[in-house]
Amino acid sequence: MSSPRIPATLIAGDGVGPEIVEAAVAVLDALGAPFEWEHCSAGLGALARLGDPLPEATLDSIRRTRLALKGPLETPSGGGYRSINVRLREAFKLYANLRPARTLVAGGRYDKIDLVVVRENLEGLYIGHEHYVEIDGDPHAVAMATGVNTRAGCERILRYAFDLVVQQGRRKVSVVHKANVMKALTGIFKETAERLYEREYRDRFAFETIIVDACAMKLVLNPWQFDVLVTTNLFGDILSDLVAGLIGGLGMAPGANIGVDAALFEAVHGSAPDIAGQGKANPTALLLAGAMMLDHVKRNDLAERLRLAIDQTLNVRSIRTPDLGGAASTSMYTQALIDALRKA
Ligand code: NAD
Repeated sequence: MSSPRIPATLIAGDGVGPEIVEAAVAVLDALGAPFEWEHCSAGLGALARLGDPLPEATLDSIRRTRLALKGPLETPSGGGYRSINVRLREAFKLYANLRPARTLVAGGRYDKIDLVVVRENLEGLYIGHEHYVEIDGDPHAVAMATGVNTRAGCERILRYAFDLVVQQGRRKVSVVHKANVMKALTGIFKETAERLYEREYRDRFAFETIIVDACAMKLVLNPWQFDVLVTTNLFGDILSDLVAGLIGGLGMAPGANIGVDAALFEAVHGSAPDIAGQGKANPTALLLAGAMMLDHVKRNDLAERLRLAIDQTLNVRSIRTPDLGGAASTSMYTQALIDALRKA
């Protein structure tokens, strides 16, 4: 079936980014995905080449297309420029970070995992209000950070998560917080969740609130007790990496940043500098993000074909990259996916 072309911004990113983006585009092309790519730059590479880690041309492209697929972007730790990922989320009000984790390769430490982490993406401790206080000549004697969570921001992400549970016929929401210590900053999230559930969603699914540290422990001991986790920015970032570990690692975990002005799809993982340029990176996480992007543009038929090809390649032909215990390079695995799509 031929469909109208859909303009979409493509950002290769840093580290393993260009390798996995090349793989994803080749597979999406073989699938007949409708995307018309606008190639743009961001991150450390863009800073080196163009003198700006977030060039105006990239922002302009996303303003036009309202849709993007991006590789990971490197952010210097400590000093340096502010995270481009955070700036992109702010620029396009990408308030919902959706990170599903589903077992694709059986026989790992955990089987049959099917969890979704919904992370608030714009508020909390990520707003970047930080500073040092100098004492006795030490410019870094004291470090301070301010977090901001708003009633409106909490309600928006909680409503997104609750609606997702209803739409996908899921069974339970766990609202993750630390309101015993950060009584205001994360108390507002818990309180808003309880009120919203009571007011509008009562009895449509099971509901619990849970403290983040206990949640981390329970996820490791018995992840099957959870279904959808919804939480504030920093906790969501940490727990979604933990959840990725349950399904074979970061190479398998996709993410969508959904917002008012655009939707941006990416892998959960970063630029993986330890394996960059070695042809070892697993492009599955980015490909699954591509499948989420196809769902977003209502091409669920293509998304399902892509997921099936990934399943067949990993499980029937057992072609896997080294992070999954296999010996296939990124390009061998990519070619196998393309072959699977052509045969289907
Ligand atoms: P990372 O996610 O890049 O890597 C963590 C571990 O997972 C590494 O051992 C890496 O080799 C492995 N890994 C990650 N992706 C893989 C893949 N596709 N295939 C196989 N193995 C994979 O985390 P990090 O090293 O802490 O961060 C590196 C950089 O990435 C930092 O600058 C960080 O700020 C940035 N980062 C960016 C994003 C993003 O763009 N969305 C997300 C997280 C981190």
